[in-house]
Amino acid sequence: MPIHQNNLKFILKKTNIRLIPKERILKNFFGYDKFRPLQAEIIDHLIDGKDCMVLMPTGGGKSICFQVPALMQAGLTLVVSPLIALMHDQVQALRANGVKAAYINSSLAMHEVREIEQACRDNEMKLLYVSPEKLFSRGYLDWLETLPIKLIAIDESHCVSTWGHDFRPEYTQLGTLKKSFPQIPMVALTATADRVTRKDVLKQLDIPDAKVFISSFDRPNLSLTVAAGRNRVKYIEKFIAERPRQAGIIYCLSRRNTESLAESLAKIGIRAKAYHAGFDTATRTKTQNEFLNDEIDVVCATIAFGMGIDKSNVRWVIHYSLPANVEGFYQEIGRAGRDGTKADTLLFYSYNEIAVRKEMVQNSNLPEEMKEIQYAKIERMKQYAEAQICRRRILLSYFNEEVQRDCGNCDVCKNPPRRFDGTILAQKALSAIARTNEKVAMGMLIDVLRGSNNRKIFDNKFHEIKTFGAGKDLKYEEWADYILQMMNMGLMDIAHDRQHIFEINNFSRQVLSGQKTVQLAHYKPFEEKQAEREAAIPKEKNKREIIKDALFERLRTLRKKIADERRTPPYVIMSDATLSDMAQKKPLTKAECLDVSGIGDLKYQQFGEIFMTEIKNFINQLSPEEKMAVERRNVFLVENKENSSLSRVDTYQYTYELYKEGNDIDQIAVKRQLSPTTILGHLCKFYDEGVDIDLMKYVSAKDYLEITQVAKQMKYEKNAALKPIFEAMNEKHDYQKIRIAMAIWFRENA
Ligand code: ADP
Ligand code: ZN
Repeated sequence: MPIHQNNLKFILKKTNIRLIPKERILKNFFGYDKFRPLQAEIIDHLIDGKDCMVLMPTGGGKSICFQVPALMQAGLTLVVSPLIALMHDQVQALRANGVKAAYINSSLAMHEVREIEQACRDNEMKLLYVSPEKLFSRGYLDWLETLPIKLIAIDESHCVSTWGHDFRPEYTQLGTLKKSFPQIPMVALTATADRVTRKDVLKQLDIPDAKVFISSFDRPNLSLTVAAGRNRVKYIEKFIAERPRQAGIIYCLSRRNTESLAESLAKIGIRAKAYHAGFDTATRTKTQNEFLNDEIDVVCATIAFGMGIDKSNVRWVIHYSLPANVEGFYQEIGRAGRDGTKADTLLFYSYNEIAVRKEMVQNSNLPEEMKEIQYAKIERMKQYAEAQICRRRILLSYFNEEVQRDCGNCDVCKNPPRRFDGTILAQKALSAIARTNEKVAMGMLIDVLRGSNNRKIFDNKFHEIKTFGAGKDLKYEEWADYILQMMNMGLMDIAHDRQHIFEINNFSRQVLSGQKTVQLAHYKPFEEKQAEREAAIPKEKNKREIIKDALFERLRTLRKKIADERRTPPYVIMSDATLSDMAQKKPLTKAECLDVSGIGDLKYQQFGEIFMTEIKNFINQLSPEEKMAVERRNVFLVENKENSSLSRVDTYQYTYELYKEGNDIDQIAVKRQLSPTTILGHLCKFYDEGVDIDLMKYVSAKDYLEITQVAKQMKYEKNAALKPIFEAMNEKHDYQKIRIAMAIWFRENA
């Protein structure tokens, strides 16, 4: 693979400054226009020479935070990373963007290591990835100290803490790194957010006072859906049929389950395989590689799958059974859509799974107090599954993030339940909590509200309080559901360390005093609720979307071909997000291609032509009508770029000259670097003036009749605005088509 090692040196020399602006690096090397939240601040902080810690969810964009500063300045950035597969992927992706990067680990041959070390000494390497084992092998640190290191990044830094879920003993030595390089800024990155681990990581790395940057853990591109756990296999088959050739992971509870599911899917022609710790290493590696290289689409796995793989184009994740806790669930669904484009997640849930999960805990050999914690975590998973309010709000509130609005991308938001004013119900519950002096949890609270005759109530004299029996009219399940909704809305606090008893908070007081009202969703048994949601019909795709999807497939096939030639996974060549943007924008010129998100200078040099040729071929094969359907895209964008040295009249004339030479609209568009829509606009103008141009082929007879009929009814006058027609036809035909139909009509009736 060609590595453009001199690219950066050249820029540094040419600009003759010490720092290249970060925005320029982002655009030129990575092809992105904007930083995501916090990225710019983190980069500035590091360039300032200060240490910091970065907490972002998987797919949040952590790498940019050290890769951009690495390229802004002369010198080397050292990246410590625990997993060979991750290093390999990141380095490949960097090289595809024209960045001189390499990794050193046990998988390399001696001469390869030598070459890399030489490049480091020659000051040509920008990023060097090493494993902790390598770092602390004999003499290695001494050698590193002779290099012009400017920045040190510790990826997956939670591995240094015994508190984290993924502790690695080799990582503990990293604490000495700061002593070897006291002046070099260090950045620790992780997707693990919990406070104890965070503090411990900073302590272990000997940077206790480093600033901590925490981004939102929201992943808005992931849709969230829960389905009733009936006919799961049939459901999954349908789900996959709606997403042909998309990569996905199905998490199952048992090994047997992964195998039987993979088998049923394979039977109906889906490229699926099972993966679990029972297979030997060779088999597991093979399956994983086939998945990375888009050679199989579906992996049915136990939780052992997915850690340490960077595949950014996993388009969906299904949980066949209820996960044990929200942390695990969030991490697993987080493996979908890392490239930032739309991805779907689906959880199957049936009530009896709660019992199964609890039994598993019961039979485990955990100490009693740990079991209690596990039970509570299962309860939170249940709350998520049975939610009546936006599911994302529940997830994010679990991670202590305050959310003001519903997400619009979960099944509850898309099909919201009917609600009623539940203020009085809420007041009853809250007042019972207050009058029992904040000593009751869910079960007891409901008993108090319903006036039950149980022993504990009498022992505690709860039957003497005013709210005893105030909610007799509702069944137990109804109260349970409403209280759950209140909990999810933050109407009261729960003391998890004191048997989950309820506590009054500020919000409770406002409701009790009547300052705030409460909307509750009508109670419905879970199965009934879910059946309704599933019945909601998905909307059909319009023509433009269908064409875009078809082009996306073509580009994907091309990407796979290139990836195979280069022996890298396809997502390293270009992400799905980039392909999707390209299928949307359909670039035909260099400027348009560089406008695609994720295409920087080097990526354009390497792949621009070949992808644009594919797009051109694709467009040529469309019918004239289909062409019309796709060409309302960035007209404005392109028009702004219109060659300003040509006057308005000249620009029309120039188009017409090219038309007369026998060029088709697309060809003119390419030659003139304008959009086909604009070119059509030019031609219509000449047509209006009586020039002989064949416009008929851009509108079908049927559409022509429909449009002109409406125009007639509306008494449309020549050169009047097209909007009334567009709207009267419910936006069925786009402006260009209407424009053409009107041009023909006026000429016919002149
Ligand atoms: P993480 O390491 O946090 O899991 P990555 O660094 O791999 O995430 O980034 C996830 C994806 O987001 C990558 O495809 C990356 O190129 C993309 N990305 C990162 N920053 C930006 C940005 N500013 N604009 C657009 N895409 C970005
Ligand atoms: Zn939502």
